[in-house]
Amino acid sequence: MFAPVYLTKQENTKNMYVMRDKVLQLAKEKNAVILAHYYQTSDIQEIADFKGDSLALAQRASEVDADIILFAGVHFMAETAKILNPTRKVLLPDLEAGCSLAESCPADDFRKFKALHPDHIVISYINCTAEIKTLSDVICTSGNAVQIVESFPKDQKIIFAPDKNLGRYINEVTGRQMVLWDGTCEVHDILSSERIMKLKIENPDAKLIAHPECAHPVLLLADFVGSTTAMLEYCKNSSSEKIIVATETGILHQMQKDSPEKEFLIVPADESCSCNDCAYMKLNTMEKLYLALKNEKPEIILPDDVMENAKAPIVRMLDLSKHLIK
Ligand code: SF4
Repeated sequence: MFAPVYLTKQENTKNMYVMRDKVLQLAKEKNAVILAHYYQTSDIQEIADFKGDSLALAQRASEVDADIILFAGVHFMAETAKILNPTRKVLLPDLEAGCSLAESCPADDFRKFKALHPDHIVISYINCTAEIKTLSDVICTSGNAVQIVESFPKDQKIIFAPDKNLGRYINEVTGRQMVLWDGTCEVHDILSSERIMKLKIENPDAKLIAHPECAHPVLLLADFVGSTTAMLEYCKNSSSEKIIVATETGILHQMQKDSPEKEFLIVPADESCSCNDCAYMKLNTMEKLYLALKNEKPEIILPDDVMENAKAPIVRMLDLSKHLIK
């Protein structure tokens, strides 16, 4: 029986830097590119060759020229990178890094739902499985959803999946009446409007910004609603010194980097939990990045027909989004 080993704070920091250097060294040796989402922990964001939101990462993944893509994000993002780069090896540091929103839309159930609306096209949020993408006409992200929907004639009947909060928000912005799949992101949907009201009362000079995956009562309170990138831009350009942020906590790293003089207040889900940390995103660690590169697994493998059929709606989105800033 071994006694537990306790490390001092300095030893932990030193180990973290050692692991970081090993990841960077291996990435160089293996001609790997590291893509990271803004919801990753700060240490991972800092070593990424490119970090971004879902749209920017999909755009970048379509242009990658490396032998290996190490994707510090969640499963559907790594799948998208694989679909856009079928000949490259795509690694996800932890295969358990899924997504509650993607899981809220099982393919068999969605097929039946789609069959009930035969004259509708399907626009799917990128936060869905590759199989759902094969059932879609075009993909969107929160950064381009309005433009994608608006690219269809006003009288075009549309199913929007899987996020009902984002779908409802787009219906409101565009005046459409898309049929919505009943899915949510467990991180954004749980953010509490009561807690926000409390924060607003305590900080009357602060602006509130929210991601459109949040529930309707939260969006009603927001001064600005936008995608991850749009929220970052808002924070950089806002004259407000204090901003209440209703989304996943990882975003604070970039916000604070862009505007060190501003104060950012993250909206807690409730008094007792930190449920606005996406448990899936936070499964990735520096050590898992290292092991993934060393062992070249876990690798994302998809059936050829799924890759082929899922690619067309993603490429259609990328074509429709070319004018949006990368
Ligand atoms: S924050 Fe929500 S939508 Fe994003 S990966 Fe986590 S569970 Fe999925």
